[in-house]
Amino acid sequence: MQIEFHGAAGGVTGSCYLLEVADQKLLIDCGLYQGGREIEEENAKPFGFDPAEIDYVLLTHAHLDHCGRLPLLVKQGFRGEIITTGASRDLAKIILMDSAHLAEEEARRKTYQARKAGRKEPIEPLYSVLDALDTLDFFGRRMEYNRPTRIAKGIRATFIDAGHILGSAAILLDLQESGRHRKVLFSGDLGNRGKPIVRDPAHPPHADVVVMETTYGNRPHKPLAPSVTELYEAILDTLDRGGNVIIPTFALERAQELLYFLREGIESKILPRHLPVFLDSPMAISATEIFRRHPECYDREANEIFHSGRDPLDLPNLYFTRETAESMRLNQIDSGAVILAGSGMCTGGRVRHHLKHNLWRPECSLVFVGFAARGTLARIIIDGAQTVRLFGREIQVRAKRYTIGGFSAHADCHELADWHRQTGRPELTFLVHGEDEARNAMAGRLDGRVELPDLHSRYSL
Ligand code: ZN
Repeated sequence: MQIEFHGAAGGVTGSCYLLEVADQKLLIDCGLYQGGREIEEENAKPFGFDPAEIDYVLLTHAHLDHCGRLPLLVKQGFRGEIITTGASRDLAKIILMDSAHLAEEEARRKTYQARKAGRKEPIEPLYSVLDALDTLDFFGRRMEYNRPTRIAKGIRATFIDAGHILGSAAILLDLQESGRHRKVLFSGDLGNRGKPIVRDPAHPPHADVVVMETTYGNRPHKPLAPSVTELYEAILDTLDRGGNVIIPTFALERAQELLYFLREGIESKILPRHLPVFLDSPMAISATEIFRRHPECYDREANEIFHSGRDPLDLPNLYFTRETAESMRLNQIDSGAVILAGSGMCTGGRVRHHLKHNLWRPECSLVFVGFAARGTLARIIIDGAQTVRLFGREIQVRAKRYTIGGFSAHADCHELADWHRQTGRPELTFLVHGEDEARNAMAGRLDGRVELPDLHSRYSL
């Protein structure tokens, strides 16, 4: 039995781990590298194994940094089975199609620039929409939580709720080879406790070997409840001033959480009943529709709402603006609207148009509810820029800025250590999916042998 680390080994993106057991090769995740040109160049480099030799991919969840290289795997010869939960499968479809569209767009733009510089050959996208469509054919069995399933000879898998996003799972593998038996547990990404809609991470089973994420391995989170209050106050204050509230938001999970909290605010009469809320992101709209199809993933509160015949993600005055023309009409609204639009870091998408129309108006507000990487427009505004450039023009930043830090889809350092403790003193732990600072800090808190694998490193189990 061997394990190899072909992504998220020294960084937080590109998750991809290869297991060889009983003459079978299986991958856990096949994610995209994200976060700036240098990191993203890794995507075009060889996987470190032959995709045609892979028999199975077990997918922990549908975030792009966990599933985003699947079309590339298929393009390079993978013909096996992709196995995941029903919700992850539905979400992965829209995520992969969107990613392929973006890759094609970027390739077209680069080809145009290359032509201007006198080069003739077109730039190929990392993968095409056709590659993404092909990938959907390889999705096979749908896993249910807590149901051990024989994957192949010597391999049984159990998906355990990871409480991170809809459909997310930690995966326990029961492996047998030449009379040797090992239980290997992959955390996937772990959620934080008390998040709305999805359940808290389930108690993990005991394992001999644990592969654990460390995104927040060195940091605690702010509590959620004060952040929700802060969100309500930001909205009420903006309504008083007579402006709009613009919330740059990630399409998957964060957008749905915000709808959930806005509904709670209205039902508890903190927010006005007829508050107009616009979800202005085709991806977020599709993701919201998928959430509505998977109540089996809801936590107790969301389930009670669902079973009482209500929709936990609906509001009296909620509008989905899928079409571009509908989105453009929002620019004519002067006051009283809450607009949720992507991208979360303002690096592209419709939110940039809303910034153009609202950023210079002191009566408006800009509410940041997610992580903003260095160098992104969101971060520049958060850091206090007086003016920004948008669509070729200088625009003053006079809207009120709020940065609300308590919304997170990840377990913090204390929750990670707790989860690890529940796996029953594994003899070997690999720390992945974290910067080295985070991995080192977490390593210092854990018992047993702890390894921080390098990219493409290989270990015997
Ligand atoms: Zn994730």
